Amino acid sequence: MIFSEALKKKFSEAKSVCVLTSAGISAESGVPTFRGGGKNPNVWKGMPFDQISSARMVRENLKEVWNWFDYRRDFLKKCQPNPAHLALVKWERKFENFTLITQNVDELHTRAGSENVIEIHGNINRSRCVKCNKRFQMKAEDVPHKPEKCDDCQGEVRPDTVLFGEMLPTGTYEKAFERSSDCDLFFVIGTSALVYPAAMLPETAKREDAYVVEINPEITTMSSICDESLQGQAGKILPLLYH
Ligand code: NAD
Ligand code: ZN
Repeated sequence: MIFSEALKKKFSEAKSVCVLTSAGISAESGVPTFRGGGKNPNVWKGMPFDQISSARMVRENLKEVWNWFDYRRDFLKKCQPNPAHLALVKWERKFENFTLITQNVDELHTRAGSENVIEIHGNINRSRCVKCNKRFQMKAEDVPHKPEKCDDCQGEVRPDTVLFGEMLPTGTYEKAFERSSDCDLFFVIGTSALVYPAAMLPETAKREDAYVVEINPEITTMSSICDESLQGQAGKILPLLYH
């Protein structure tokens, strides 16, 4: 991959950099994406991912939601951060202001060594009580999940991730929005850009005059607003930009 002079200049001069990552960045770690990029077990026992991972399913069949989440948590134990996650750890050290925003729930950025990660869709190893909202941190090895019930109020415990049909937690998205509106360089990596409001972040950065670069093997709905679309795999491209 040969980078444009414009990108090389932006990358060496930028003071404030924002990166938004999504399912595609973990594809090379063997984590299946929901829509694009390889083999997609995007159905669970015949249910499409947006049905099994939905607010409605939490109300109607929480047990099956947990079966699906525990399956994914178990699967993730075998997956390791890839060169794209590792490259972003170096970027965090390089830039004066660096913000990593992820839609992923898989913890691979943290496991790679990134220190400040804004997880706008939550974390697969956290759960919360549906009655009193108490949160529980799980170890990756806790499969099946625990606890099953809230130890304060005996309420049901559900995954603490943002499911289809749910709002983002307040505070987290606002922070991501604020950082996106105030950066020189914005990267959008491995997202099909169909999930709003996260997809608004690169649009916001662009409107505020940031240089916006997409990294994805496919053209997406975001490609047309980006200054550059680097077509390829994140794990191949990111380590070449800075080493
Ligand atoms: P998606 O599954 O719809 O799309 C993935 C995108 O990644 C596609 O555009 C694909 O072309 C691209 N891609 C595939 N391989 C890539 C690679 N090697 N390098 C760069 N890009 C690559 O995902 P989405 O719309 O980003 O996510 C939907 C939601 O599902 C997200 O909010 C996310 O939270 C959740 N999700 C998370 C995980 C995870 O935590 N790993 C996995 C699946 C879905
Ligand atoms: Zn409770």
